[in-house]
Amino acid sequence: MSRDSERNWKPATSLVHGGTLRSEHGETSEAIYLTQGYVYDSAEAAEARFKGETQGFIYSRYANPTVDMFEKRMCALEGAEDARATASGMAAVTAAILCGLRAGDHILAARALFGSCRWVVETLAPKYGIEATLIDGTDIANWEKAVRPNTKLFFFESPTNPTLEVIDIAAVSALARSVGARVVVDNVFATPLQQKPLELGAHTVVYSATKHIDGQGRCLGGIVLSDKKWIDENLHDYFRHTGPSLSPFNAWTLLKGLETLPLRVRQQTESAGRIADFLADHPKVARVIYPGRADHPQASLVARQMTGGSTLICIELKGGKQAAFAFENALGIVLISNNLGDAKSLITHPATTTHKNLTDQARAELGIGPGTVRLSVGLEDAGDLIDDLDQALKAA
Ligand SMILES: *Cc1c(COP(=O)(O)O)cnc(C)c1O
Repeated sequence: MSRDSERNWKPATSLVHGGTLRSEHGETSEAIYLTQGYVYDSAEAAEARFKGETQGFIYSRYANPTVDMFEKRMCALEGAEDARATASGMAAVTAAILCGLRAGDHILAARALFGSCRWVVETLAPKYGIEATLIDGTDIANWEKAVRPNTKLFFFESPTNPTLEVIDIAAVSALARSVGARVVVDNVFATPLQQKPLELGAHTVVYSATKHIDGQGRCLGGIVLSDKKWIDENLHDYFRHTGPSLSPFNAWTLLKGLETLPLRVRQQTESAGRIADFLADHPKVARVIYPGRADHPQASLVARQMTGGSTLICIELKGGKQAAFAFENALGIVLISNNLGDAKSLITHPATTTHKNLTDQARAELGIGPGTVRLSVGLEDAGDLIDDLDQALKAA
């Protein structure tokens, strides 16, 4: 099959066949090349490989056929020229943020960030002379005001964790481009199916593949997708020499996850929409935030830049922490876990788990109250989930 025909495939086809490197054995399912190294026919062949005169693999810290398949399949889905897979989402985020910067540069980031992303921007980068400013990213005026002559990188996630705020990717990217800065979007919450940051003007997209891409709670993984020139100049040597490489076994698991990604995300989003509607009308619920409902604070932006809602719901319970804990403890199907994007529905109380390291003020700025819980909707029957939530709300 030629790569040319691959270019016209719809996502569901790319996710089953894209990037396949079938061996001489003709296996149907992708092979797991669980190997550290590669052998050469001769000393001359090794020399030529190292000189770059022949194509091929050298060492699995540099590249591996199973990992390569995962990268190519993700490129086809995202419409990206190139990608590098990583051992976790945080390895991808760290590389995407730090590799293009140097001491004296400035990062402008939306403050509603996954906790570890916020640590990289706010704590790690400044240790190496890279300053960062965190703003409320929902208003483009805040980005304009905070730009400095040395701002080289804009970074944000959308929708955000856990309050599902949405940031205008096209507007922020246009501003960044006008000041010569690059845009990195953490697209985990939207998934590659429901939002295309590169088409909206971003330069680089990062994923924690741990979430919907695996989708069945097994492997950590991540990926950085961008233009080939930027990856060649900024990521290539960093990956070879610092080793954030993805394990071939995990790459294989993620490849199999990609095959069913559209089915899972579509079903989980549909169930989440039903559940959000049920919760919004419930007397024990103060507020539901769900991209895809007409009462989302940025409903028109959601409609403009996303093709679906979300598999996540942010719920504000009446009765604060006590009600939130009683609710979580009374659930029978939904499990208490800080992960997301899984086939199993998971619930977490951000103020005491994922966002416990923030100050009370920082949490309040993000809209995380003592009664806030984040629900990641899984693949169970939506009616069963609604029954479970209903009986737990009665207990709360
Ligand atoms: C989980 C997550 C990460 C980190 O990914 P890991 O695979 O856990 O390292 C980064 N960003 C967002 C938005 C996430 O949800």
